[in-house]
Amino acid sequence: MIPITVVEFGEDAERLVLEVLRSGNIAQGSLVRQFEDRFASMIGAKHAIAVNNGTTALVAALDVLDLEPGDEVVTSPFTFVATLNAILEAGATARFADISEDDFNVTAETLAAAVTDRTRVLMPVHLYGQIAQMDEISALAAARGLAVVEDSAQSHGSSLNGRHAGTYGLGSFSFYATKNITTGEGGMITTDDDVVAERLRVLRNQGMRARYQYEVAGHNWRLTDLQAAVGLPQLDDYDDVVATRQSNAEYLGAGLSTVRGIVVPAQQEGRRHVWHQYTIRVTPDSGVGRDEFVAKLGERGIGAGIYYPKLVFDYPTYRDRDDVIIGSYPVAERIVQEVVSLPVHPHLTRQDLDRIVGTVSSIVDEA
Ligand SMILES: *Cc1c(COP(=O)(O)O)cnc(C)c1O
Repeated sequence: MIPITVVEFGEDAERLVLEVLRSGNIAQGSLVRQFEDRFASMIGAKHAIAVNNGTTALVAALDVLDLEPGDEVVTSPFTFVATLNAILEAGATARFADISEDDFNVTAETLAAAVTDRTRVLMPVHLYGQIAQMDEISALAAARGLAVVEDSAQSHGSSLNGRHAGTYGLGSFSFYATKNITTGEGGMITTDDDVVAERLRVLRNQGMRARYQYEVAGHNWRLTDLQAAVGLPQLDDYDDVVATRQSNAEYLGAGLSTVRGIVVPAQQEGRRHVWHQYTIRVTPDSGVGRDEFVAKLGERGIGAGIYYPKLVFDYPTYRDRDDVIIGSYPVAERIVQEVVSLPVHPHLTRQDLDRIVGTVSSIVDEA
């Protein structure tokens, strides 16, 4: 079986984890600070604030915007459920904008169509490892006086004309086990704003500035040095990891682009795609239904994923809530029925890649 993800660490991570264990200082300490500083400089942000997971990072980013009940956050309907849950946890109202089939992300046009006079925040999701059209989205936010929170959970190091995801607005990242950079659980908020960074650090640590001086009712959102020890060494060779993912994606694209009814993903002009997922679309022209296609891949030893099988609000628990405003999203509604993510991780061999291409081709040929 070729798995969709492989979680594997080098000896440098093992050594650093052991050092932390032996030091006895296993909670948040100097390694978390190092992880923050290295991450901030990697993406070109002034500050990075580590937290316990990516959902917390989103909630924290919304928290510092001081939203009022009824204030609206416009996001993508085609995302992981954490995006929506974070908006609700922050006490805001969620609205959605359709996506583009070029990059699976919301666009300035679709966001503009969803903005109302209650909108306070635009929250694009840089899905699968590719940053959204942030130039246009930032211009829209500036023109309408809106804040931007970027759900960059899947897009560490993705950039547009050299400018990284997470530096256009408040950036939010995840280090969950399957993400491109992982600490098991973990998250990061990025900002250039000194005051916002300081507020986030205080909120993260029970609202405490100096010892026992509680400034606000805060939280325990801390990451640990044990987790930072897992994450830090991954920053050393992250560019190589992305380069391998990139070349795997190119190889798959070359093999799959001529298969009937299969649409391969593309790195858009000026953007760096970090290939968290390699997601094809199995369209009706292929002659095979998406779910049948995934089942056949599984039978033939290819681990495939469906990210995501339904639009984020399309579950009974989100229906009939005043804080989840659901409209119609023709592109997302079609694409959600077509997506299949194939293995693209750096542990694939040339032989694995050939097998993936060959298996996809034969499933379509047989249809
Ligand atoms: C993983 C993910 C999150 C949440 O991150 P966690 O660390 O799992 O809390 C949020 N948004 C998107 C798009 C994600 O993929």
